[in-house]
Amino acid sequence: MRPMNKRLIINISELVTFEGAKALSGEAMSRPKKLHDAWILIEGEKILSIGTGEPPKAEAAHILDASGKLALPGVVDSHTHFVFAGHRQAEYNLRLQGTSYAEIMAAGGGIVSTVASTREASKDELIALGRSRLDHFLSLGVTTVEGKSGYGLDEETELRQLEVMHLLDQEHPVDVIPTYMGAHAVPKQASEEAFIDFQIETMLPLVMEQGIARFVDIFTEKGVFELFHSHRYLTKARELGFPLKVHADEMVPLGGAQLAAEMGAVSAEHLLHISEEGIEALEKSGTIAVLLPLTAFSLKEEYAPAREMIERGVPVALATDFNPGSCPSMSVPLLIALATHNMGMNMEETICALTINGAAALCLADSRGTLEPGKLADIVLHDVESLDHLSYHFGVNTVDTVVRKGKMVYEKRRSFVR
Ligand SMILES: [Zn+2]
Repeated sequence: MRPMNKRLIINISELVTFEGAKALSGEAMSRPKKLHDAWILIEGEKILSIGTGEPPKAEAAHILDASGKLALPGVVDSHTHFVFAGHRQAEYNLRLQGTSYAEIMAAGGGIVSTVASTREASKDELIALGRSRLDHFLSLGVTTVEGKSGYGLDEETELRQLEVMHLLDQEHPVDVIPTYMGAHAVPKQASEEAFIDFQIETMLPLVMEQGIARFVDIFTEKGVFELFHSHRYLTKARELGFPLKVHADEMVPLGGAQLAAEMGAVSAEHLLHISEEGIEALEKSGTIAVLLPLTAFSLKEEYAPAREMIERGVPVALATDFNPGSCPSMSVPLLIALATHNMGMNMEETICALTINGAAALCLADSRGTLEPGKLADIVLHDVESLDHLSYHFGVNTVDTVVRKGKMVYEKRRSFVR
């Protein structure tokens, strides 16, 4: 009898994957394994074996014919803020026409409006909003999503955001990794110092005690959380045992990258204005640079210096930064286009940055990010025959089928409804 929990995917025109369980850097980012006429044998939630040529059909209870499609590991989106209420489309359009962020803030827009809407939203409302966004992520081939709190800036709402991510993780096929980012902005009527005191004395210990966040993050930026207070917050988080992430050098070269390296953070993120010293610090510490090209596009800013970082040996990951203000798009196809057209990354480096390096930026590279025996069967079939099509058909979603933990969880609709 055929074991019921074995599944086989056959007729894969090209299978592209990196190998190993840690972030890749330098030339290794351009050298994936490419198999042609390939198959993948799945047992339960994991990959059992991969090969080319004659597939082991007798071993599997179920067979999926990929009909000549490209197979890639699921995208690991290592930086988003996907749990929030209230879109800001009006201010976005004003900004496109030249209104400054300061003017928008003065008119009651900006992050304070998202904080107000998120504080008002119930748990069920946030779950419904988060669910539809995870559905959208899945249709783009994303199988793991990190999500940050930081639209409450008070105890009740921050904990609600984290709880919502925890509940969505249990109900949705996409794996949700919650990050506590209480230090996202200084709330009205508080000082930077007093707010960081509140984080250190109350919030960080509480979040650790509840066990509902995997990482701690902070928006280190001029006029938001400067280096001194960022250092205090990160030190406390590290003492409590949290792995760290830092929003660094997004607006000005403040030195957030150096701080992330010094604190032993897993990743430094954004880095549009990283300095020479910042690149050197990341290179020495092995801190992963999580780059967010959709945000640079949205803000009409220069892109992060990805080419230089890769050549200097900094491990680079790419993520969407989906959020209601600076990046209201989760478009992985547009992200791929920006990385390959505007950041000088080749298609192989781009996939490396979205899969194994994204997984490493979430400390999950031992379980996902590559297609190898023993890893989770998180597999995306694209309706093209080879990897080089993904930069070529820029902006087009080529995702056809998504397999998450061995089960088919998304399939593109094939016909019109009549
Ligand atoms: Zn962010």
